[in-house]
Amino acid sequence: MSTTSAPKTGIKVIVVGAGFGGLTAAIECHRQGHDVSIYENFPELKTLGDIISFGANAGRIFYRWSNGEIARRLRELCIDLSSYGFRIHKWDTGEVVYHQPTPEQKPDAPVLNGHRGELHEVVFRYARDELKIPIHLGQPVNEYFEDENQAGIVLKSGERVVADLVIGADGVRSKARELVLGYVDKPKSSGYAVWRAWFPNTDMIKDPRTREFCINGDTFNGWIGPDVHFLFSTIKGGKDCCWVLTHRDEHDIDESWSFPGKLEDVYKVLEGWDPTCRAIVEKTPSLVDWKLVYRDPLPTWVSKHARILLVGDSAHPFLPTSAQGATQAMEDGVTIAVCLRRAGKNNVPAAVRVHQEIRYERVRLVQKTGETTRDRWHKTDWEKVAKDPKSIAFPREDWIHQHDAEKHAEEVFDDIFKKVTQPELFENVKLLPVGPIPVAV
Ligand SMILES: Cc1cc2nc3c(=O)[nH]c(=O)nc-3n(C[C@H](O)[C@H](O)[C@H](O)COP(=O)(O)OP(=O)(O)OC[C@H]3O[C@@H](n4cnc5c(N)ncnc54)[C@H](O)[C@@H]3O)c2cc1C
Repeated sequence: MSTTSAPKTGIKVIVVGAGFGGLTAAIECHRQGHDVSIYENFPELKTLGDIISFGANAGRIFYRWSNGEIARRLRELCIDLSSYGFRIHKWDTGEVVYHQPTPEQKPDAPVLNGHRGELHEVVFRYARDELKIPIHLGQPVNEYFEDENQAGIVLKSGERVVADLVIGADGVRSKARELVLGYVDKPKSSGYAVWRAWFPNTDMIKDPRTREFCINGDTFNGWIGPDVHFLFSTIKGGKDCCWVLTHRDEHDIDESWSFPGKLEDVYKVLEGWDPTCRAIVEKTPSLVDWKLVYRDPLPTWVSKHARILLVGDSAHPFLPTSAQGATQAMEDGVTIAVCLRRAGKNNVPAAVRVHQEIRYERVRLVQKTGETTRDRWHKTDWEKVAKDPKSIAFPREDWIHQHDAEKHAEEVFDDIFKKVTQPELFENVKLLPVGPIPVAV
């Protein structure tokens, strides 16, 4: 575990976006000795969002920051299910069909589930106040440029800032993606939407039907029904409550987090369900209606001269049922930072291409799990569950969670670097493309 930064590489990196993807890319670039700064659209830090999940593969990354101190700060804000586990109910009868135990937490790779805004604040402050990474707020970046030698961004003042590499970590509505692909990649409806809410336990605790969730520490329950699932957790010893309901929705495509939802619509979906679900939902002061969009995997995350790279949601949005969107954004940041150090200042475009080769297939496979888990739940065969209750468990696969992005990048870098820089030495090398990608007519 290292806390001090590596020797300076002289590589200058601009990161656009200060979400978990952008912050991790910046923190890891700092750790690997690069000179990094962030440009972010929001003018001030706000505690936005609700529940977000980080797998052990993210916990391992957090743990390397400040000798475990950042992981410790995050852990304090997160749900602790070590004794409660995850109770999975049948939607109508409410019976618990499977009680999934919580795997033992590894101190150096904790699983972290908590309020997105609270966790984000910890990471943001660590980057800005402790590592002194310059974070320029109130800077919407809508123009990018590059040539063989450098890349840059245009600020709203018209000022041009240049660097060896620009990392576009600007989320699902990415502008950087337009430059990389050469066209605007419109999201499609996934056919599903999520209602989500986060609120204090004040009313929950007064109602005997819901009190049990708030007086015995943290809890996590899921109700699985026909093409719908409802997840409910209590956090901070039962003080905060949070639920997420995924349901069919073919309406407008919107990738916003703040679209208000209506309780009456939720009640309609919950007709015929275990009354506990409605008893929980009734306590909700306000909720968000978030349409789940889908994107086919982008053909490339790398610009023509390989000096602009997309990471996180701008490259690959995830469905919440994968519980890996933020974690995969973090793995991106770790990987590019390692590749840049290993390749050196004179080989930045090669580093970027190696990053893409390392990350692309893994991300695609993890993305798929969002669909498979949703389908496993939404098309449940209850006879099969009666015989094999584990078949309804939330999958926690080792190939996802045991992965150490930093170690992996270090191990495979040399081989892939050779393939990228000297393809003629190999037979049948098939490398991923760089943009812009011609649009098929
Ligand atoms: C406000 C907000 C709330 C969220 N709440 C949740 C939640 O409750 N649960 C959950 O699972 N996920 C949530 N997410 C999404 C989740 O954080 C991401 O899916 C995941 O962490 C991957 O992060 P990312 O850094 O790639 O993208 P994001 O987290 O979307 O970060 C992108 C960043 O880029 C900035 N940006 C965008 N365009 C520009 C531009 N032109 N110039 C400069 N900066 C720009 C955005 O302001 C944002 O800070 C939320 C995202 C946001 C932005």
